[in-house]
Amino acid sequence: MTAFFIDIDGVLRRGDRAIAGAPEAIRLLRASHPCLLVTNATRLSADEIFAGLVKMGFSISREEVFTPIDATIAYIKKQKPAARCHLIMEGKVRADFAQAGLVLTDTTPDYVVLGLDTKLDYAGLDRAFRNLKAGAKLIAANATRFYPLEDGLHLGVGPFAKALESASGQEAVVIGKPNPEFFRAALERLGSKREETVMIGDDPFDDIQGGKNFGLRTVFIEGTSVAEELKKNSIQADFILTGIAEIARILDRLK
Ligand SMILES: [Mg+2]
Repeated sequence: MTAFFIDIDGVLRRGDRAIAGAPEAIRLLRASHPCLLVTNATRLSADEIFAGLVKMGFSISREEVFTPIDATIAYIKKQKPAARCHLIMEGKVRADFAQAGLVLTDTTPDYVVLGLDTKLDYAGLDRAFRNLKAGAKLIAANATRFYPLEDGLHLGVGPFAKALESASGQEAVVIGKPNPEFFRAALERLGSKREETVMIGDDPFDDIQGGKNFGLRTVFIEGTSVAEELKKNSIQADFILTGIAEIARILDRLK
């Protein structure tokens, strides 16, 4: 049965507002297909993202929201179920790691796990560097260079990962889209097969190229970037729509 990964930002919502027709499109898809709403955001926990979407009018369940934090936890637990993790991130996402049975500590950790921490300073980076030098492995929840807020672009996680890679000489394991680890963990969560799963997204690289590389079919939603951008970078989506509200039109061709 066809299953769907559906990108959240730019496809279902823009900032705090649902995109017109998106809640209805999700209702339609969920009625007969397994769906997982996916994002690269690390600032909010999946609980918070879920609550925000429900408030905007999406009828979904908590298990249908999947973030790089979820994928990072799944990845670490597979390597070492009670791993010691030096987390560089803020807010409720920290509790998700503890709840999953991982040990939060910045002393002799197995992993330095990098998400977005707007309070990160020299001392924090230095501690991470020293832990990496002492043998901890570096994981970045995503490698996003910058991300949009209402007032424009802001510095993302990627440049901090680069700084730590440069200093430690160690390459980070990056988890978020477009990396296969993310799609692998998402498939596992959804219980769907790769060849039956469709990635719907508005990012030519993270969603479309990443999805294709992993062997998914793809639907590009024109949002902040338009179809021109696909062409410019020789990326081919299976379908191009101006909005997810149009999904009903192609649904029987996605069987
Ligand atoms: Mg997006």
